[in-house]
Amino acid sequence: TTPTPVTILGLGPMGQAMGQALLAAGHPVTVWNRTASRAQTLVTAGANLAPDPGSAVGSSELVILSLTDYQAMYDILGGHTDALRGRLLVNLSSDTPARTRDAADWARTHGARFLTGGVMTPPPTIGTEGAYVYYSGPHPDFEAHSAALAVIGEPRYLGEDPGLAQLLYQAQLDVFLTALAGLLHATALAGSGGVSATEFVPQALETLAGIPAMIEDGDALGAALDARSHPGELSTTTMMGATADHIAATSAAAGLDLGLPDAVASLYRRAIRAGHGADNWTSLIEVIRGAEL
Ligand code: NDP
Repeated sequence: TTPTPVTILGLGPMGQAMGQALLAAGHPVTVWNRTASRAQTLVTAGANLAPDPGSAVGSSELVILSLTDYQAMYDILGGHTDALRGRLLVNLSSDTPARTRDAADWARTHGARFLTGGVMTPPPTIGTEGAYVYYSGPHPDFEAHSAALAVIGEPRYLGEDPGLAQLLYQAQLDVFLTALAGLLHATALAGSGGVSATEFVPQALETLAGIPAMIEDGDALGAALDARSHPGELSTTTMMGATADHIAATSAAAGLDLGLPDAVASLYRRAIRAGHGADNWTSLIEVIRGAEL
């Protein structure tokens, strides 16, 4: 079968990487970007630069959006809604699940279908084996275009609710952003004692790399969290919470920003206050879920 034509709106690093991958796989690619100069590399590689968003959308049934947020989609397409009828919009931009659901309704109002996506890996991985993308929305629309979507990265379909892909994207980024902020805080903490980042970062990587073994395997931890079972044989919330308090105190003495260590210490304190002191650190999830004050 001939590769289907694809339109891409938004040519930041991500949109450009998707365009390159689709061109390499033989798809006719039409692009449009607010800042036209960002289309140059793709045009050289064979993409067609549309003069305006309406004609870009008119060039392909499959329209991929790779923008900073959902407002950018309304800014770009709000004046070209006539062009949307019969199109499948696949919005791979970050935003909240609620705004994503509203956008799916908005697209339907204009005769378009809508899939939500969350790209889970950085631009250099796009079109390679390591890339994967979450999708949610109408399953038949996902099925119909999964061959083209697979060019970007492995498509992982989550369900009909358009907000679901966005929620899982956020949950994954929650892990990512929190871990990265923790790494930076730890580096500043070590730095307060004269240990350079060059020295410390490789040691911090040992701790990060040790986490998978500590939680044994993802299934075991997930099942325990679902079961709300927090046996504290190896480490308790009281023990971990004392360390969290020590980190906050040392950070304060060093004059570091306290936002992150205070937030962590507060979770432990509230879990202990709710009676989880002798339980495992996993009991923090009861505080986070809002089950405990
Ligand atoms: P950029 O911020 O570099 O690009 C954003 C694009 O949105 C640009 O084409 C920009 O146009 C356009 N844009 C923003 N606001 C408007 C507006 N109001 N009107 C018209 N166009 C607008 O982002 P990336 O390419 O890095 O990322 C795109 C999406 O992919 C984001 O949602 C991001 O969360 C997601 N993502 C990115 C990853 C990454 O590592 N880069 C990894 C995983 C997901 P212009 O060029 O004119 O400014």
